[in-house]
Amino acid sequence: MPSLSREQVKRYNRQIILHEIGVEGQKKLLAARVLLVGAGALGSPAALYLAATGVGALGIVDSDCVELSNLHRQLLHHTHDIGKEKVASAQNAIADVNADVQVVAHHVRLNAGNVMELVAEYDIVVDGSDNFPTKYLVNDACVLQGKPNVQAGILHFLGRVTVFMPGNGCYRCQFPNPPTPGLVPTCDEVGVLGVVPGVMGLIQATEVIKLILGVGESLSGRMLYYDAWSLKFKESRLQRNPACALCGDHPTITQPIEYELVCPLRPGQAACAVPAESPHAQIQSTKS
Ligand SMILES: [Zn+2]
Repeated sequence: MPSLSREQVKRYNRQIILHEIGVEGQKKLLAARVLLVGAGALGSPAALYLAATGVGALGIVDSDCVELSNLHRQLLHHTHDIGKEKVASAQNAIADVNADVQVVAHHVRLNAGNVMELVAEYDIVVDGSDNFPTKYLVNDACVLQGKPNVQAGILHFLGRVTVFMPGNGCYRCQFPNPPTPGLVPTCDEVGVLGVVPGVMGLIQATEVIKLILGVGESLSGRMLYYDAWSLKFKESRLQRNPACALCGDHPTITQPIEYELVCPLRPGQAACAVPAESPHAQIQSTKS
């Protein structure tokens, strides 16, 4: 691994002086490749902070364009970016933050035909997607390739976040199949407070940094819930389901499954990944 330049030592000084990171840790960060699925509400804080931290390569997948209604929570994008591809807008914003970071823009919608190839290029995946078909595609590809999947969802005043590590369960262990279309509301229908994805996206970035460095206690095996209304965090344990069709003892899913997007997303639609169950019910039922 190449040594750090004098400028890099200065730029990353406040984290290099943490003995848990040091110069070797910074080199690991600069060598890491992270795929962000979605350059929206969750992807914005995750991308900006991972870039500032000096994660060397950030792949960004998003097929949308920036809309005015995105700007209250998608801070990668600015008013003058309206109409641009989100991946291009993200690339510009990240270049301003840290030129050490190589941004690879993927202006495509993930599908069963491209997800495996995309995921294969990266070490860790951050799922900030806004729809169930994408969440299942990302989950399936990560399990099949043994890649960590740092997944979050937001709605209303609520958020949830976890890390699915290879061998320690997956999204399908909790929710074997997507919910009946139309059963779960979207952020377009019920809204979301702009700061909620900010908090959740930063937790995703935090988990990515810890995974790259191999330090700290991972969120793997735990689901963390955030209720901005009462300002409470709660968590529940997650377990691998041996009967899971994807990561169980006798898997039957051997390639990513593409589910139909019932309401095709409009260009620039909000990145409001909705938990697969009522998040409020989850939070109420979770022991603190
Ligand atoms: Zn599973």
